[in-house]
Amino acid sequence: GGTVPLEQALQLAQKSKPFLAIFDHAGRPLHLGRTKRLANSAQRLALIATERGCTRPGCSAPATLTQVHHVTEWAKGGTTDIENLTLACDACHAMIHDGPGGWKTVAMPADSEHAGRTGWIAPRHIDPTGRPKVNDRHHAGELMAASLARLRDRTRPPVKWWSRP
Ligand SMILES: [Zn+2]
Repeated sequence: GGTVPLEQALQLAQKSKPFLAIFDHAGRPLHLGRTKRLANSAQRLALIATERGCTRPGCSAPATLTQVHHVTEWAKGGTTDIENLTLACDACHAMIHDGPGGWKTVAMPADSEHAGRTGWIAPRHIDPTGRPKVNDRHHAGELMAASLARLRDRTRPPVKWWSRP
């Protein structure tokens, strides 16, 4: 769940058992197909590789402090398939419930900017819009790429309408 210099990562890798993570074209781990309630180690590793930490917006808990959560709850028929699993730290996991002030989790739709990631819906007294939001804290690379794209757009010379053919 953290970052280390490349040399240190290679030293750690020499003593480790390698695991292969396979991702689809959208960057989501492929279906690992288990119908047990608890996630298996492959599913946990895939979640750690993609989500890197707690998925509630604004939470900085690293993957080492999280547990696996069923986006559609197990008690409501949710499956232990990789598409239905996400990481949540203890404090955030406890915030998900159907009672007053409870948060909800959903898979972001295919047409959204964050397709397939876990969206968290805050209770109405926090966010009256009811729109799901994702956590960018563990995805600094995506934020950097978006910032650089905006910067490039700003520094690109404006297209002059009169010069078009
Ligand atoms: Zn959290």
